[in-house]
Amino acid sequence: MERSYFRYMLPHNAPEGQELVYFPYWRFKGMLFSCLPSGIQNRFLDASQQAMQSTLFPPSVGLRSQAMKLQFVSPETKGWFINPTLPFRQVMETFLTRFNLKMPGPILHQSHIGESLSLIYAPFYVAKRIMDAVLNQPASEELDETFELSHFSGGPADWRIRFIPTLCPNCGWDMQGRRDALVLHCTNCESMWQASKDGMSRVNVAHLPTPEGKNIIYLPFWRIRAEVSGIDLNSYADLVKAANLPKVVQPGWDRIPCHFWSPAFKVRPRSFLRLTHHITLSQPRDHLVADVPKGSMHPVNLPVSEAVETLKLNIAGFLRPKKVVEDRIAEIHVKPSRYLLVYLPFEIRHHDLVQNTFNIAVNRNQLALAGNL
Ligand SMILES: [Zn+2]
Repeated sequence: MERSYFRYMLPHNAPEGQELVYFPYWRFKGMLFSCLPSGIQNRFLDASQQAMQSTLFPPSVGLRSQAMKLQFVSPETKGWFINPTLPFRQVMETFLTRFNLKMPGPILHQSHIGESLSLIYAPFYVAKRIMDAVLNQPASEELDETFELSHFSGGPADWRIRFIPTLCPNCGWDMQGRRDALVLHCTNCESMWQASKDGMSRVNVAHLPTPEGKNIIYLPFWRIRAEVSGIDLNSYADLVKAANLPKVVQPGWDRIPCHFWSPAFKVRPRSFLRLTHHITLSQPRDHLVADVPKGSMHPVNLPVSEAVETLKLNIAGFLRPKKVVEDRIAEIHVKPSRYLLVYLPFEIRHHDLVQNTFNIAVNRNQLALAGNL
């Protein structure tokens, strides 16, 4: 499935009047989880690689994607934008193959859980050689006189940034949301909406109510139903057996569907994985109410399209004994079928947010720092 992406550019410092050329790089930003026989390793990645193969331009934008303020490419931006010719998947795989050489031991499964895909355009100009327009220094050797930039397919910036419309499709109310919020809340008709290819689509929401008066924030989670093959994981009874939970399977548990849970917000990789496993093994289902909670809610800033990347990783983390992962993970396939956005109440304490029903906490710092993730 081809995902849509954002186009950013690095600001330039080129001398007045220079014709700028923008070279495309894919950016890999997000969490990388690698299942090894010894357990799951996590890393936070922010790297880039050429989206078109050329020896004239640097292989990546280096630290600039983190250190510099990126701007959206707008139709008013002057310059020649070289087309990306390598698909994201392929560039990512080549990058990971090299990256993975440093891993200790065979990689049984790997998930990259990132943000929305992005392409970064870095500015250059030609003055006998290719000049880096950020630092105004040479990026290539002297060029052949016959060199022409028009050899590269590309064109002017003519993309429109599609801003998410903020009027509620149901009642016309102006919805508010933080800049990074992927799901908007209509406080008039209590509905929630996410942008999709065909405009806004309604998101099914539920929450776990909590007694009023407590200092509470609701954290959003994606609850995903999936078809699993290669292992029995259809019902709650299957989950209890596969994860070897300290419970005796009760009559009827084979009729309770098993759901996979994932945070719908950005948080440091270690906390992300812990929450994913813990909430999945807890299987919240009693007392869920099918509407938007009253009270403060943390914004949804991890899309469900990324949350589905956790499915196999989640299984690899809870299968017991651990040896099963090594033996069977290759034959396990998971296909998401339905999802629901569920808000769980967390009590705000001095350092932590605490979920009392399922007995899990997340450090407030891990959430605050995740603003830069
Ligand atoms: Zn509305």
